[in-house]
Amino acid sequence: MAFYFPSVKIPDNVAKQDWFNWKWQLRHSLKTKEDYEKYFTLSTEEKKGFYTKKNSFAIQTTPYYAQVAKAKTSLRKIITPDLREGHIGKQALKDPLGEENHSPLKHVIHRYPDRVVFLVTDLCPIYCRYCTRKRFTATNKHIIQTQEYKKALEYIKQNVGIREVILSGGDPLTLGDFLLEKILKDLRTIPHVEIIRIGSRMPAVCPMRFSDSLTNMIKKYQPVFIMSHFNHPDEITLEAAKALTTLADQGIPVYNQMVLINFVNNHPAIVQALSRRLLFLRARPYYMFQCDPSLGTDHLRTSIKNSQWIQKSLWGVLSGLAVPRLAVDLPGGGGKVELVPDSRVAINKQSQTFKGWDGMTATYIDPAESDIQIPSEIKSYLKEWQLLVRQTYGDNS
Ligand code: SF4
Repeated sequence: MAFYFPSVKIPDNVAKQDWFNWKWQLRHSLKTKEDYEKYFTLSTEEKKGFYTKKNSFAIQTTPYYAQVAKAKTSLRKIITPDLREGHIGKQALKDPLGEENHSPLKHVIHRYPDRVVFLVTDLCPIYCRYCTRKRFTATNKHIIQTQEYKKALEYIKQNVGIREVILSGGDPLTLGDFLLEKILKDLRTIPHVEIIRIGSRMPAVCPMRFSDSLTNMIKKYQPVFIMSHFNHPDEITLEAAKALTTLADQGIPVYNQMVLINFVNNHPAIVQALSRRLLFLRARPYYMFQCDPSLGTDHLRTSIKNSQWIQKSLWGVLSGLAVPRLAVDLPGGGGKVELVPDSRVAINKQSQTFKGWDGMTATYIDPAESDIQIPSEIKSYLKEWQLLVRQTYGDNS
């Protein structure tokens, strides 16, 4: 095998069948300083972080992830509160992506015409210190109530332009299989819903969640995409590798969205290691997000310059399949903007000159504009396209 995936040591006082039970992992999550001290030797600064009142955000991690992070200073930063979370940041926003302005209902975010984010719970297996959705995550610590669920489902039914539903929260895989299946089944009764995505941190922080019964159930409602959230190659343990392999074997595609975090993964050596391991396990490195300016996250954010340096370093070194797309989700709710290496050096009337990853310069000469034709067999798809454009830009487009 090209890569070695180490198994996570089960603590001496935990039975093996408990350790591999995801519900046991959630029930025995670490939530207090005292819980953390069973796994980590906390510094004085870290201890103080547990008592930060300003901008306070829930604290929790699974015992499994605590074991993974135990010997890793960087991973610890993802789950350990920090005094600096209480500082007023340079751009500290309660709702960095302006999601509330795009929420027709409390549990639905409808930013793009063709897709909605459906917040089915505010619970997560761990509470990442950089979380974008601190305004919602862990505020009530419960799953969506029946009335809210019915309203959200009705909203999706009524809006025939919605082709994609992204189950999110919180983490939808903190729901039991029965409830999760009900949601998938209900969504599949809506003819215009083409794609379902499940955004989850579980593959990285509680891989025992991916039992055969779960993946067999998900498979019945295909196409369902798992949007995983690995941030660091050290998160790809043998247990995580098995979870990803099970998903791939069951034909459930996995796309990974990482967040660039200061002092945790902001180096090309780390990003390449994560990306190659994911790809080897048939999970596609998809996005590399600029950390959103959520409350108390200045110390965790990288600069755009730092992120672009990472992206540029990967260019040419990794295959296109392994390079995640660098994107900034615009503060306030403008949507994602992708950043690409600046490769164009000159633009002329009929040609453009570029500099490649290794410095080679070359010019692409356009054919005559008059020779460019629209494909002849466009008719059968034109209606579909025009409908999409109308749904996106309105009737006057
Ligand atoms: S798992 Fe996702 S929603 Fe939950 S705390 Fe982490 S970033 Fe936020």
